[in-house]
Amino acid sequence: MDPLLFIPGPVEISPSVRQAAAEPPLAHGSTTFVELFGELVRRMREIWRAGPEFQPFAFAGSGTLAMETAACNLLDPGQTALVVQTGIFGERMSRILERRGVHVVRVTADAGEAPTIARIAEVLDDEPVHALFATHVDTSTAVRLDVRSLAELARKKDVLFVLDGVCAIGGELCDQAGWGIDVVLAASQKALGGPPGLSLLVASPRALEARRGLRAPPPLAIDLEEWLPVHHALEGGLPSYFATPPTSLVRATVAALREIDIRDAVARQARVGAAMHSAWRALRLASVPAEGDAAHTLSALWIPEQVRTTLPQRLASLGVLVAGPLHPSLKPRSFRVGHMGYVTRRRDLLERCVRILGRVLVDEGHPADVEGAVSALHRELPESEREVDRHRLAARPY
Ligand code: PMP
Repeated sequence: MDPLLFIPGPVEISPSVRQAAAEPPLAHGSTTFVELFGELVRRMREIWRAGPEFQPFAFAGSGTLAMETAACNLLDPGQTALVVQTGIFGERMSRILERRGVHVVRVTADAGEAPTIARIAEVLDDEPVHALFATHVDTSTAVRLDVRSLAELARKKDVLFVLDGVCAIGGELCDQAGWGIDVVLAASQKALGGPPGLSLLVASPRALEARRGLRAPPPLAIDLEEWLPVHHALEGGLPSYFATPPTSLVRATVAALREIDIRDAVARQARVGAAMHSAWRALRLASVPAEGDAAHTLSALWIPEQVRTTLPQRLASLGVLVAGPLHPSLKPRSFRVGHMGYVTRRRDLLERCVRILGRVLVDEGHPADVEGAVSALHRELPESEREVDRHRLAARPY
């Protein structure tokens, strides 16, 4: 049997998403697909909290392509961007921008920490920049940024603001229209609870204006100007073609988004994050980021001294897949546990992860309190499966 996915994406998917993913491919000109795509766009606006003037985009690719798309549609070679780096995905954004010929000013922090808003403001005072880039949750460190304050800062300085929400959207609080974020990019396989393969982003009118003002157009396949009429047509119920869309992934992702009532999902994700951190404390596992900076969607944890660094492999042999360290400074004595998407509605699966991890730690002589960890989980997530189900949006037939 495949192990349970507690890596930070791809994540476990729900039965209705599995069922949708198993359907035969749809023609991209079919009425069913056109309706599904329109629904995808509308649901993205709800989940991103973007108003009707914001434009969602979805095309084949992963989160990295969405990053590339944002960089190449907003900035011309020779312009300057400030990138707030809280892990390797921030550094990836900087490299993407540099390949576009953009001058990058990096604001970094030690692994597991976040630069203060005051420091970012100081750099913005010193450097005339065109755009600010940040990662809501950097999956390599589990650091979550204060996006609301960053957005406020970007508005005050009148610079474009691009947010990598790959490991956040659908779980962490984000209000794109309310906070005034120009692009929030994501991918299908994390807190949104879909299979991997769909690049997603929502652009503000100002972001689309920036694209129209470019001197050097982006590569054709990721040009938002090329995709815009197709998205408009599909949302309006008309077939349209620019490049063949991944119809099966769209169907599965729509099934996943139908299960997200965003207010509920964000509140539940916060409780799951708190519950997992309570469980880690009982297992005597220390978090890499300090509590105030830690994500709700995943945890980065130190491996205790007496426990072998092969901990992720040992867990995999017991049917629970967690992730090893990705950030060079956190190697080899750390690991990461994803707890977003479908598992946030399955306390039994979260409990299985905690129990198996606890058992391995105890076997290695680490003083983990497994029952204490499970009780902590139950305390923070008191409701039964049935109650959780009641809160779920009923999956409609697709
Ligand atoms: N940004 C963040 C925050 C991520 O976690 C990831 C994937 N782990 C990416 C970007 C890149 O996404 P993908 O692997 O889907 O290309």
